Amino acid sequence: MFTPLTGRTVLVTGGTKGIGKGIAGVFARAGANVAVVGRDRERGEAAAAELGATYVAADVGRAEDCERMAAETEERLGGIDVLCANAGVFPDAKLEDMSEADIDEIFATNVKGTMLSVKACMGALERSGHGRVVLTSSITGPITGYPGWTHYGATKAGQLGFMRTACIELAKYGITVNAVMPGNIMTEGLEGLGEEYLETMAASIPLKRLGSVEDIGHAVAFLASQEAAYVTGQTIVVDGGQILPESLEALASA
Ligand code: NAP
Repeated sequence: MFTPLTGRTVLVTGGTKGIGKGIAGVFARAGANVAVVGRDRERGEAAAAELGATYVAADVGRAEDCERMAAETEERLGGIDVLCANAGVFPDAKLEDMSEADIDEIFATNVKGTMLSVKACMGALERSGHGRVVLTSSITGPITGYPGWTHYGATKAGQLGFMRTACIELAKYGITVNAVMPGNIMTEGLEGLGEEYLETMAASIPLKRLGSVEDIGHAVAFLASQEAAYVTGQTIVVDGGQILPESLEALASA
């Protein structure tokens, strides 16, 4: 029913680990030609070898890196049909303890990095004739809150503010811009938050499990598909129902 993604050229920022690696894997297994981006070269090359992808080193918070990332990807893959602007960081700090540097660091990757990645890839996406941008936002910020993540939540909501105007500006180039909003997804990064966090989190989700990186990859693949050509400026929440129960009782009494 869906047009195969075979031969599509796909650039995944933050594709060397976690959710981005899961997204890259879904595209690679569907026969797409994939480039994964991250700052750590060793990890990037290992991930690319495992996925059958190509690794491009870049810090998305730097404009010159993003320009080079887009040019190298276009040259190596022969174009860019899909940009998954997924690279993100989530250090935690309570507002009272937060420094200006903490705020700058998270905005540099999550907001500025998203904007610079899209800006750098616009030309290649237009040339593809069916460009797709899929951002990785979050439920945290646009919908929910979590202590320690005021700055993170602001960046994830900020990405959606960017998306809602970018989709209008890029429409004339035939490019759609959408976002996935993951709930709690099982990644190496999340594992570091500890057993107790993971168990409490799973208990608060109607589907009673954390998401997998493939759960996000499949939603991204839909937004990148031929069949999603008329969907732009929209979000898909992929969270096992986590944002819905109004109280613990609502969850327990189901
Ligand atoms: P992760 O496992 O820590 O992976 C982050 C990836 O981004 C790595 O490949 C990392 O590689 C790359 N990266 C970070 N900063 C970068 C930069 N400045 N330039 C280029 N690459 C950079 O994180 P994750 O959990 O998969 O999160 C991925 C995205 O999903 C983020 O946008 C996050 O906000 C979002 N998200 C995650 C969850 C969750 O439950 N895990 C939930 C909602 C939303 P290097 O460190 O080598 O650069």
